[in-house]
Amino acid sequence: MSEKAGSGKGSGNPLGEFLAAMHKPGPRCGVSAIRETLPPERQAALDAALATPTITTTAIRVVLKSWGSDLALSTLLRHRKAECACSR
Ligand SMILES: [Zn+2]
Repeated sequence: MSEKAGSGKGSGNPLGEFLAAMHKPGPRCGVSAIRETLPPERQAALDAALATPTITTTAIRVVLKSWGSDLALSTLLRHRKAECACSR
């Protein structure tokens, strides 16, 4: 009679995995990794450039390359859109 299986095990939030992935501290993206290797004044310049909408991501990539750090444009874009691991 008591056949009503309530919320047994196995039934989880279908979004659980995605939500967990969003909050995963995990390794930060390449932008942060490279940023940490930069001298403070370049870190500040990079932060300012990332926060300035009129500076294109391509320009940031070119400057980083001139500093000796080659990053994929997609990595920079993701970081800028706060979709990377750094911005949780
Ligand atoms: Zn990032």
